[in-house]
Amino acid sequence: MPEGDTIFRAARTLNRALSGQVVTKFETQLPQLARVDDDAPVAGRVVEKVDAAGKWMRMWFSGDLILLTHMLMSGSWHVYRPGERWQRPRVQMRVAVYTEAFVAVGFQVPVAEFHTAATLARHRSVQRLGPDVLAEDFDAGAAVAQLRSRPELEVGVALLTQSLMAGLGNVYKSEVCFASRVDPFRTVGTLSIMELTSLVEHARRFMKANVAEGVAAMRRTTGRANPEERLWVYGRRGEACRVCGTAIESRKQGVEARVTFWCPECQGRS
Ligand SMILES: [Zn+2]
Repeated sequence: MPEGDTIFRAARTLNRALSGQVVTKFETQLPQLARVDDDAPVAGRVVEKVDAAGKWMRMWFSGDLILLTHMLMSGSWHVYRPGERWQRPRVQMRVAVYTEAFVAVGFQVPVAEFHTAATLARHRSVQRLGPDVLAEDFDAGAAVAQLRSRPELEVGVALLTQSLMAGLGNVYKSEVCFASRVDPFRTVGTLSIMELTSLVEHARRFMKANVAEGVAAMRRTTGRANPEERLWVYGRRGEACRVCGTAIESRKQGVEARVTFWCPECQGRS
């Protein structure tokens, strides 16, 4: 599943290409979108902005119409110049928004819905997002409070629970726990405020660093230039911890069985 930084970056790219532009053509293979387009055509509207809310992307059109998409595992948005060859097969196109200068194409986007401001405000999954780690006005204290509201959850599960804190995905989950020296299998209720604050601050710092201008779409948490050394623990089962040399472990966690990586020495239970 793409992490919030992927969605944030995609939304920013789309916003730069499309905002303020008139839609010249709208294409979709999704019946629920086609129905709305028949009744209230997208073509002729202005793209007001494109933004991200956690892992959701919102494309705001003039006339109170919002295209809400979620990429889940498979989806992606590309921006092309008109006539430019697409990098994915046309059969994978689900939505395409054309303007004079650019075409935004959503490939294999599994969740796509049209909303008005009113229906979006009632949307359960978007409505119930916790503080967004990438939001300008992110409130670390509010995120800590949200996490503390579920003391029974294991830390590795809580960090992925989008209604508590929005945007973090499976790679950063492990990295954030390592950076904070917290065992991901402890329950939230056993953490000190300092540990919770450290988790939230590392989440924010790692995600922000990965959406910074000019940074390639390669996740990095160690700050090391060598691409072989860009992550602390994720994907490194059996390899030596970069801090203490102990073999990194991994195990599936939570009902969704998302894999968690950790160093049993650096992140010893306490
Ligand atoms: Zn270690």
